[in-house]
Amino acid sequence: MLESKRCLNCKAPQCVKGCPVGNEIPRWVHALSMGNFGEAMQIINLHSNLPAVCSRVCAHERQCEGHCVLGKKGEPLKIGALERFISQFDADINLTKETLPLKDKGRVAVIGSGPAGLTVAGVLARRGYDVEIFEREPQPGGMLMFGIPEYRLPKEVVQNEIEKIAHLGVKIHCEVTIGRDMTIDDMFEDGYDAIFIGTGTARPRRLDFPGNNLPTVGQAIFFLSRFQLYLSGYIIRDEMIVKEGNRVVIVGCGNTAMDAARTALRVGASKVTVMYRNSIEKMSALMAEYNDAVAEGVEFMWNTSIAAVNSSNGRTIDSIDIDVDGNPEQFEADVILFAVGSVPASRIVSTTEGIDTDEKGYILIRENPYGMTTRKGVFAAGDVAKQPGTVVHAMRDAQMVADSICQYVDAVNLLRQIDRHDSNLKTT
Ligand code: SF4
Repeated sequence: MLESKRCLNCKAPQCVKGCPVGNEIPRWVHALSMGNFGEAMQIINLHSNLPAVCSRVCAHERQCEGHCVLGKKGEPLKIGALERFISQFDADINLTKETLPLKDKGRVAVIGSGPAGLTVAGVLARRGYDVEIFEREPQPGGMLMFGIPEYRLPKEVVQNEIEKIAHLGVKIHCEVTIGRDMTIDDMFEDGYDAIFIGTGTARPRRLDFPGNNLPTVGQAIFFLSRFQLYLSGYIIRDEMIVKEGNRVVIVGCGNTAMDAARTALRVGASKVTVMYRNSIEKMSALMAEYNDAVAEGVEFMWNTSIAAVNSSNGRTIDSIDIDVDGNPEQFEADVILFAVGSVPASRIVSTTEGIDTDEKGYILIRENPYGMTTRKGVFAAGDVAKQPGTVVHAMRDAQMVADSICQYVDAVNLLRQIDRHDSNLKTT
């Protein structure tokens, strides 16, 4: 509360401009400063369905806190820490109890339960739509559960957020793969009025060099998800690519690379080296994430790329040929993990007529209604429809698409009512 009292309650708050979802920061900070925790939480809920997640993984230094006027002459308000406090307090004592509207506005299916899918489900459920989520993994949460490690985003926090959305009346079906167990056409036949695709970018990129297909050359994002499956008891330790004592090389320098590097150390790697083809200034990882990785012992090699992986038995790595500042060198490693971005999987679009993608596989969406694909009634948002972004950017996109879905379903239902009315007139 002392920290929240530092807020100047600015007339034109820059912090709000810096927040991708337009969180009304001064309003809830003021409520918090007065001890009105429930009111603070309600104001946060107006713009965010995942506040406990955002408070932990958002780049506050570049967003709200980076824009706060207090930061010009001193320390910006600690907005992330305040949001984390209030959302944790809410989860601990069940502070806010929402009265839910009747689910009579229409049926919507949401494919994928990452930040985009959960946001669409939360927004629509609060507005009276009957929402069901379909998730291919055994647990919901998408990249929040399987792509961000426990030390950065505790899974209990993700589960609490998902429970809050389930309490809004949203049904969640796990281990259902759309495009294999059921198609989009099946779903329309089942009576859904609209379908939202928020499946992210499930197909990671792999760099092309000799030896890149060895079993000890893998994907950082799969390593992170298997680590989570191991922690949840779904697989045993030996089923992870990184073993105790391994020397691990991570290729790429975004936040996934930092997460994989720090997780490899936790799994017991003896040495972890991040190799990046550019300089430190060009890395996409947050400086705070980089600093934490350095503090934990991760080593970095800049302007470095892999030319070839040498193996005498076709299974294990003997050595790696690398290029450092244009000079050839050799490097010792046991495991290589790519963290160089990903593109959408094609299972849903390849089994559905009429959903166009660009040449990389990103689903094409319309500006009006925002987020509708080239197939009527099918919407998409988040990473699957754009270039990969952050959690909060996927949420912002999903909020805008949720508005479009409401307009679309309302219009479809209105037309149905008119048709029914006309056919009644004809019969009478
Ligand atoms: Fe408060 Fe900073 Fe936002 Fe001003 S910019 S309202 S001081 S958080």
